[in-house]
Amino acid sequence: MVTKLNRSENSTPRMAVVPDARRLERWGWYSVALNVVLAAFHAIIAAVSGSLAVTAELVHNVVDLLTAVAVLIGLKLATRKSEAFPYGLYKVENLTAAGLAVMIFVSAYEIVREALLAPTALIQAEPWMLGLLLTTTAMPLFFSHFEMRVARAANSPALLADAREYRLHVFTTGLAFAALLSQWLGLPLDRIAALLIVVAVLKTGWDVLRDAMRVLLDASLDAETLQRIRQVILASPAVAELGWVTGRNAGRFRFVEAGVTLRVVELGKAEEVLGRIEAAVRAAVPHVERVLLHVESPAVTQLRYAVPLADRDGAVSKHFGESPFFALVTIRQADGGVEEQRIISNPYHNEEKAKGIRVAEWLVGMKVDVVVLQEDVRGKGPEYVLRDAGVIMRLTEKPTLAGALAALSS
Ligand SMILES: [Zn+2]
Repeated sequence: MVTKLNRSENSTPRMAVVPDARRLERWGWYSVALNVVLAAFHAIIAAVSGSLAVTAELVHNVVDLLTAVAVLIGLKLATRKSEAFPYGLYKVENLTAAGLAVMIFVSAYEIVREALLAPTALIQAEPWMLGLLLTTTAMPLFFSHFEMRVARAANSPALLADAREYRLHVFTTGLAFAALLSQWLGLPLDRIAALLIVVAVLKTGWDVLRDAMRVLLDASLDAETLQRIRQVILASPAVAELGWVTGRNAGRFRFVEAGVTLRVVELGKAEEVLGRIEAAVRAAVPHVERVLLHVESPAVTQLRYAVPLADRDGAVSKHFGESPFFALVTIRQADGGVEEQRIISNPYHNEEKAKGIRVAEWLVGMKVDVVVLQEDVRGKGPEYVLRDAGVIMRLTEKPTLAGALAALSS
């Protein structure tokens, strides 16, 4: 039997998303502003010099400007949810990126055609152009450094791509600079430089497209993250078995699904246990938007009972932590017959402090399903330990082990 319990159905989106989104949006605007400045400078130089390399770099800036605007649109839409899109519009961010990649390929094609087919024109290179190009090489490099930091912290694929792309400007604007310098020295290298800039632009387009497609086609979370999630889930004492774990990215968010078998027999308590597992996953892995746990009920063929005893002859102890012995009885579910019965000494009964908790942990370690008690431990340490592990507590008034077990099965 498989029960689907979606822990996040009613919870509001993470509070952390809001400041993140604002911050990303602000950086998106910075990027737009930078591109406008770069494009303006390159437009002036391209117009005066007639250099195709600088024109290629100008096209590159315009592509970047459109990317930055698209990122802003993506950020606006990504966190929105509606009745028509109940899973959110996270992927708009990636869809925009894919559209941009196509635009980049088109502009690259235009420059290549120009470089190969246009008639040769006279190129004028002057020192002020060279100075300005050095400035426009340095600006994106500085910007990229700070943008990268913000993008990493927010796990935004769009902003990260933007920052990486700016690093490339050392080469592309540098090439435009080299082209003009060579023309100034009398070497006609302008068109070759333009073609090299196109290669860099194409590389950008390809990276953007590949990353976007990975997310759009629900590529898995990386192995390291999945392993981390596995460890976190298995660390819960209530988990008997962990079947599968999958996860995917959508925009800058992560969605996780897992199939777990709980040691919990009472389904009412499963809810609580699942809530704790989800919280643990969120704490360990950043940007998790949703954790969907499919609970597979354990095939219960037998239950292991623990009963505190006052002596080895089966007198039920009135205490829990202080009782000198425990009976461990495994009972078949099918016919109520006893599969195994052992009486063992309580290694913690002389303990000074927190013996109840120690004993509870000891019983959990021995895979006990039900603890039968005369002492009411509600609201005390042992109860929390047992409940966390999905162990059921039953109260009995019977003075003997046999009587208590018989009362349970009737
Ligand atoms: Zn660029």
